Amino acid sequence: MCDGKLTRGSMVASLTALSATPALAQAIPAGSGWNDDLVTGNRILADQEILDGFGHLSMRSQTNPTRFWMSRSMAPALVTAADIMEFDLDGNAVDPRGRAVFLERFIHSEIYKSRPDVNAVVHAHTAAMIPFGVSATPLRPLIHVAGFLGETVPIFEIRDVAGDATDLLVRNAQLGAALARSLGAHPVALMRGHGYVAVASSVRQCVYRAIYTVVNAQAEAEALRLGTVKFLTPGEAKSTAATMAPLVDRPWDLWKTQALGER
Ligand SMILES: [Zn+2]
Repeated sequence: MCDGKLTRGSMVASLTALSATPALAQAIPAGSGWNDDLVTGNRILADQEILDGFGHLSMRSQTNPTRFWMSRSMAPALVTAADIMEFDLDGNAVDPRGRAVFLERFIHSEIYKSRPDVNAVVHAHTAAMIPFGVSATPLRPLIHVAGFLGETVPIFEIRDVAGDATDLLVRNAQLGAALARSLGAHPVALMRGHGYVAVASSVRQCVYRAIYTVVNAQAEAEALRLGTVKFLTPGEAKSTAATMAPLVDRPWDLWKTQALGER
C-alpha cells in the first residue's frame, strides 16, 4: 500500500532508478573508437522489442577498422557504457578482464571482415522474422520505410555449412564467414530457425533497419492473410530507400526518448 510517506525502501528504489536512467552518464574515454550511440542503440532495440534477453548490437571502431565494440554477454536493455568491450576481427576480446563474451560474436567479426562498408551490425531473434526464414514465403519490402530491403532478402541455412550437427548458433569463425557470404552485399539476411542480421554504415542506420525490417515482416504476414499482395517494385524500393536514409535521426530521437527518457 502507498500512504505517501517516503520510506527507506522507496528512497532506495528512486535512487536506483535515478542512477540507472542516464545510461550515457559514464564518460567514454577520448579516442576509444566508439560513442554513445552504441549504448543508446542497445536500449532502443530492447525498448522496441527487437531484442529481448538475447541478441546484440556492435559498432566498428572509428579509430581502428580492424576492431569493433560490443557489450559483454548480457541483456541489451541493461547495457551501460561500463559494459562495452573491444574485439578484433577474429572475435577475440582485446582486454577481457574475465568478462563473459557473446557466443555469437563471430557474426559481427566476420561481417566486418568481409564488408568494409559496414560500421554497425544487429543480430536479433525477433519472433516476427522467424516465419520468413523457415517457409517458402520470401520477405520482401511492401512499405516505403523498408525499401532498403531491395529485391530479395537472403536466408542463411546453417545446414548447408555444417549439416545437422549445430545448435544453430554462429559460434565460430567458419560459421560467421558462411553467414557473411549469405548476406553478401545485402543490408539484411534471415537466419533459418534463428533470427536475422541487419547491417549499415552507422549505428543509427542499423537500428532503423533492424526495426523497420520487423515492421515490414509484420505487415507482410498480415497482408498475406488478406490475399494477393502488392510489393514495392525494384524502382520503388530504390527510391524510398534513398528518401528515408537521410531521415533516420528523426525516429532515432523519438526511440531514444522512449527508451531512456532523455535526448
Ligand atoms: Zn542468435
